[in-house]
Amino acid sequence: MKIAFIGLGNMGAPMATNLVKAGFEVHVFDLVAEALKALEAEGATPGSSALEVARDADVVVSMLPAGRHVRSLYLGTDDNPGLFSRLNSKPLIIDASTISPDDARVVGGAAAEHGLRYLDAPVSGGIAGAHAGTLTFIVGGAAEDFVTAQPVLDVMGKNIFHAGPVGSGQVAKICNNMLLGILMSGTAEALALGVRNGMDPTVLSEIMKQSSGGNWALNVYNPWPGVMDGSAASRDYQGGFLTDLMAKDLGLAWELALGSGAAVPMGSQARNLFVQHSAQGNGKLDFSSIQWLYRAGMES
Ligand code: NAD
Repeated sequence: MKIAFIGLGNMGAPMATNLVKAGFEVHVFDLVAEALKALEAEGATPGSSALEVARDADVVVSMLPAGRHVRSLYLGTDDNPGLFSRLNSKPLIIDASTISPDDARVVGGAAAEHGLRYLDAPVSGGIAGAHAGTLTFIVGGAAEDFVTAQPVLDVMGKNIFHAGPVGSGQVAKICNNMLLGILMSGTAEALALGVRNGMDPTVLSEIMKQSSGGNWALNVYNPWPGVMDGSAASRDYQGGFLTDLMAKDLGLAWELALGSGAAVPMGSQARNLFVQHSAQGNGKLDFSSIQWLYRAGMES
């Protein structure tokens, strides 16, 4: 099976590498030349355009930052026709980016007009999950397309959920990330309060992990530097899941809430915190650097 993989960033590169290791013929494209070189070293075939790699692929996987990148790739822009109108073959399209459910439905609808099958398949599990092949895939689309995609998704993920029709993968993912944004900022706030009042952050983390405040951010993604080996916080918040991407996802949650009349006071608060943090120049740091908004004890 030939797979075209488009978007080789923090997530896409390790995901594509796992497909190579599993024996698939993987053709890759990214706008960044170094990203292409790194995947070539892993055994993938680099291409000079998205069309070149997708032309006769059985499956196209995209892992791009936001909805505008996904729309532009598949639907095109005023001066650049998109993939859908230029493909002669009929690959299954799997978009693993986190984008709005409306964007996913627009792209999915356009795919159907071109006789193409489309799944929105956003992921959870972060960069560690992408490297380990243990991501959670949350998939929206037709049941038969979900079955077709499963052997490919199984290589990159451990838990593969069919959420419902096109767009539902994104709805579920956005709900999850809104909760994650709330948990991460709440965890940072609690740690800063404890440290300001004399607690050692490692001791406090251990106590809260074993108590009713335990949560994913505390258990596997502790935002305080030095508390957890290998965490983004322990490597100056480099790499990981960028603050700007979390701000984007919380914006998607806000849009979803507006469109459906839902109140999301906690999600709105978290969005404001991450947007403020980004505006202070931290957009390209891992999102757990939200700890810096609560600077108590951080300077020492
Ligand atoms: P990233 O910014 O590291 O990578 C995106 C890549 O897409 C870059 O290499 C960029 O050059 C490339 N790109 C952009 N436009 C392109 C185009 N037109 N053609 C080819 N390549 C193009 O982002 P990431 O962290 O890998 O995240 C990708 C998606 O996954 C986002 O939607 C994000 O919200 C989601 N996500 C990220 C994480 C995480 O922990 N980083 C976790 C879950 C979901």
